[in-house]
Amino acid sequence: MLAPPRLVIDYEILSKYCTECTAAVRDLLGDSPDFAIWYEGHKSECQINLTGSSSSMEMEAAAILWQRSIKECNMCYTCILSDGDSKTFQHLMSLNIYGKGKPIKKEVCINHISKRLGTGLRSKVKECRSKGVCIDGKKVGSLKETTIVKLTNFYRKAIKDNCNDVEKMKSAIYATLYHCSSTDAKPKHSKCPNGKFSWCFFKRALANEESPESHSVMKTKLTEEVVAKILPVYQRLASNEILSRCTSGKSQNANESLHSVIWSHCPKESFQSKKRLEISVVTAVSEFNFGSLFTLKHVHQNTSLPSMQISWNHQKSRPLTVGEVVKVENSLKNRTLWSLARVIQFISGKDGHVRVARVKTETGELVRPVQGLNNLELQEPEIDLPKDLTDSVIRTRRRRKVISPKRLTNA
Ligand SMILES: [Zn+2]
Ligand SMILES: [Zn+2]
Repeated sequence: MLAPPRLVIDYEILSKYCTECTAAVRDLLGDSPDFAIWYEGHKSECQINLTGSSSSMEMEAAAILWQRSIKECNMCYTCILSDGDSKTFQHLMSLNIYGKGKPIKKEVCINHISKRLGTGLRSKVKECRSKGVCIDGKKVGSLKETTIVKLTNFYRKAIKDNCNDVEKMKSAIYATLYHCSSTDAKPKHSKCPNGKFSWCFFKRALANEESPESHSVMKTKLTEEVVAKILPVYQRLASNEILSRCTSGKSQNANESLHSVIWSHCPKESFQSKKRLEISVVTAVSEFNFGSLFTLKHVHQNTSLPSMQISWNHQKSRPLTVGEVVKVENSLKNRTLWSLARVIQFISGKDGHVRVARVKTETGELVRPVQGLNNLELQEPEIDLPKDLTDSVIRTRRRRKVISPKRLTNA
């Protein structure tokens, strides 16, 4: 949900899948008492928070956000900007969360609506072709793919430039259509804007009191036959009902940009657990609202993720020492193939800080930056398992028995 200064103010993550539940159902059989006992313990950390269908996800999330807005912030959302389908909007209307007198406005993303014009025109081409009429040939004035793209852009611009007035929007949309079908014999520029700065060359010439150029200079042309065929598409998409939803001229570009930040943190192609998604959404929202630099600083100062604390502390607490065995980082190789080396000397700079070290490898000596030398976790205190624990039966979290391998000895 985005507010005017383009800030993310709330979000909700819904998941239909839980890795542990799936494994438990497989191993313990879903309806067995064993599963019921296991589930009792698991319930608090289960990742499933949506049981309906995937298509209901957006509706459920919107309902949660709407309910929360009153309860937690005492604020109301006044409008919803979405793509064409209005399921979510209708769901919110039926729930009537804010009560009477506080209606929600539905707005449509102008990118989506102009895409619908493109789709409409393309299906018209197909429809005509099935009837044996070709309107997309190579002839001048036919409805080629490039023409469709141009008309779509004209339509979008007409909405964007006149977004506070439905009637103006409508006449600007028809102006683009009629302008394109004008010829020297039949100029149709009555709806085109007047003035010296008009986009229409015909009206511009009239304003400058010159005689207009020939219509052959026009780049986008449509024959009368094509206009007659596509007029119904325009009539449908320039109706008051549709245009009244575009009056703010907003697009979902900000949403899309947030999404791309989220999915750059966790690739969409592979399955992501809810926890990972949560981390990436939180980081993305922070980057979106405050910028990446702030986020990075903030994360390192106030990190609450245990794994981050460990790696951060680990690096700080263990400076390298001379004589230590290290792994030499090599970006060309997999981490497991990095070569081992022994630190033989630290080289300090003019300011006294050590940034590079001389190391001895199998084949010779190297000078490498200190941050490229990874100490092996050999000096960590080893954990002694109590004897009796190792002897008794060990079970995994999913209650599988762990059988230690039998050693083959001579005895
Ligand atoms: Zn679960
Ligand atoms: Zn014109």
